Order: sequence, then structure tokens, then C-alpha cells
Amino acid sequence: MRHAILAVAILLAGTPLSAQKADTTYIHAGRLLDQPGQAPRGASTIIIRNGKVAEVRDGFVTPEADARLVDLKSQFVLPGLIDMHVHISSDDDLLRSRLEASSRDVEDVFVIAQGNARKTLEAGFTTVRDLGGDGRTTATLRDAINNGAIVGPTIIPAGTMISVTGGHGGVNGMNRTLTHAIAAERSNVCDGADGCASAVRAQISVGAEVIKFAATGGVRSNVAGGLGKQMTDAEMKAIVDTGHSFGRKVTAHAHGKEGIDAALRAGVDSIEHGSFIDDETVKLFKAEGAALVPTAVAPIAALAQARRGDAPGPQLAKAEEAAAAHAASMARAIKGGVRILFGTDSGVAPHGDNAKEFALMVGAGMSPAQAIKSATADSAAELDRPIGAIVPGRDADIIAIDGDPLADVRALEKVEFVMRRGVVHKLGGKRQPFPPE
Ligand SMILES: [Zn+2]
Repeated sequence: MRHAILAVAILLAGTPLSAQKADTTYIHAGRLLDQPGQAPRGASTIIIRNGKVAEVRDGFVTPEADARLVDLKSQFVLPGLIDMHVHISSDDDLLRSRLEASSRDVEDVFVIAQGNARKTLEAGFTTVRDLGGDGRTTATLRDAINNGAIVGPTIIPAGTMISVTGGHGGVNGMNRTLTHAIAAERSNVCDGADGCASAVRAQISVGAEVIKFAATGGVRSNVAGGLGKQMTDAEMKAIVDTGHSFGRKVTAHAHGKEGIDAALRAGVDSIEHGSFIDDETVKLFKAEGAALVPTAVAPIAALAQARRGDAPGPQLAKAEEAAAAHAASMARAIKGGVRILFGTDSGVAPHGDNAKEFALMVGAGMSPAQAIKSATADSAAELDRPIGAIVPGRDADIIAIDGDPLADVRALEKVEFVMRRGVVHKLGGKRQPFPPE
């Protein structure tokens, strides 16, 4: 098999740019999970034309003249993964980012984001929803990736998370000068229904494709405000209605039960984290048709950072509280039949380790097949994008691994092959030149 990989690598190196970009690629897949939720196929050929899946056929079909062949005969092939909750511009080294915060400018943040984007893509995540950062920075990165100037996943940005003054996305814990300076350039902090509607419009004006707001306190804000409800019902309703009126989905960061319930009643499309979920909340999720994005790796990572002393003082108590409750709430939601979407909150946990979430999902009661469907077909449906399955007409976002993720979901933690929109970024576990040579 090593021979085959080497042969493909040589073939790639000798293929001119025009052919690479290209026109036609055949993938020979040993096993193929083309439609997550259904059983995988055996030996198959995927035919890709101009970045889209054109055909899927049984067996290993001989490529037509001038087409490129990628040999994944010994591997398990599936759609590119989708992470519904990352912070691509957040430095996942919390201590370093705190020490450097006052010396970093937007250009520095952009360089950090660029590195995170590449790590994420190479981990097999071909699409991510960015749920909070500097709106302009994320939108610029998204466009640069789509234009082929930078390597990374498709990004669906939320702009900056909307928050009340003093809330989880507010400007907290700084001296007076910094507080005023940062607040002056932020458009995400609001109070009252009108103010919060205006904050939604401001995010949309800098490129937000989804709206995120903080319904409750959060672990990683530098304020001792707990994890309870922070927004009024009227503020949440104004955010949801305004987002929907612009055709945006709206998702709420929410830990405490009262905040989760209020956000669900306000009509959110999904809840992020959901640390305190009881049976009544499970019912409300289902009645409203909303999804849960558990981000199970995040409370574990945040608690480890806080206990190490990397986080500022107010965070430790909140980290303990969230981590203690999260796993049971997630298990309750899964057992109760709440729709679960895959998300990690990477930026809290390290970028590129996104697939570690799978084992926690399975530990909380999902089958590997359900967890994979959640990170592909189900998240694609929520995003309403032509991804998440390898069927004609979809974007050719395709990954491959050794081993069988339906038997051991941790096999997804080591991705050997990554293609995004028909361009190969990783092959035989190795980064491929970009633009293709
Ligand atoms: Zn987050």
C-alpha cells in the first residue's frame, strides 16, 4: 500500500495546476460512508468534476483520460466533518494570549487565525461555524479561504457574540481606559430590546451569516457573574426575531436552565453548551424543534486551565460548576431524543483536536454512526449547505482515515486524507502543496 501512496504522490507532483484544479478526479475508496445514517458501501469510485461530486459508482472504475486518480483503496472514506462551534481567531494557549493581549493588534490575531484554520482543515474539518471573534477578521479570513489565498475550512461566521453589558460577551475585567477603548469599537454589547436588535444588524453588516448571543453567563468571561440567565426575555426575543428577519439562524450560548429555557421559548434554532438540562428542558427542546450543540470537550479544557491557574480568578468557580453538570445534561438530552449537532468550542480546547469530541458523544450515549451523522449530514442540514454527504451535486469535501470509525470513533482523531471543494490538502497523512503544483 505504501507503493500506491507514493505513486499517487508522484502523480500529484507531476500534475499541472490546471489539471489539479480540476477538472476531473477519481477516488478509489476501500469503504465509503457516502450518506451518513445509512450503511457504508464497499469498494467504490467517487468521480469529482469542478469541485463537486459528479457520480458515485460501485467498484474501482478506471479513470478516463486526463483525469487524476487518488488511491484510497485501503481507507475508510466519508464526507468532510463539520464543527458547529469554533473560535478560529482565539489563541488556544490561554495563558499566552492573556500575557500578550495588550500588545496584540488585529494583524497578529489574523495570523493566529490563519494557523488555526489550517490545523482545523488538516484535522478533517472542512466546514466550521465561527461563533465569536472580531467580526471583520473572521469575515476576511472566510473570504481569503474561499478565494484560495489561504488554506482553511469553509467558515460560517457569527461576527461577535451579542451580550448585555457586564455579560459573557461584554467588556469585563479591564482598567477604565481599556474598557472605554474596547467598548468604543464593539457593536455587540446591548441593553433592551431595541439595542439588541441593533446589535444583530451590526453583526450582519460586518458579514455575520449566523447570529450568536449569550443568554447566560459563561466560564471564560472575566466577571464573577455565575452561569445563570443574563438577558431578559424581551432582549432574547428581539435578537431571535431580528436574526430570522434577515434569514439568519440564531444560536444561544446558554449554561443555566432558566437561560436555556428562555432562549428556547424565544425561538432560537440551537443552544450551545447546555450545561444544566433537566427533563422539562428536554421537552422544550423537542417542542421548539431546537438542536443542542454540546461542546463536551470545552468544559473539560476550561476546568484544566482554571485549575492550572492560567485563567483569571473569577473563572475557576464557574469552570467547576459547568464541568460538574455538563456530562449528565448531555446524556439526558441524548436519551430524551434532542437533536444533537457536533461542536467543540475549539479555541477553548486546542484547534485541530476537534475530533476528540466524538468519543465524548459516544460516551454520553450516541452510537458512532449517530455521532458521525451529527458532524456531517445533520450539521449540513442545519447550515442548509450542499455538504455533509458524498452524493452528486454536493461540494467535494471528502476525508479518509485508516480503521473503521463505526467500530471505533476515535479513528477520526487521525485523518489521512483531506479534500475541500475538490482540492487535495492532505494525502497519506501529509500536507499537500497549495496552490497545487
Ligand atoms: Zn464558544
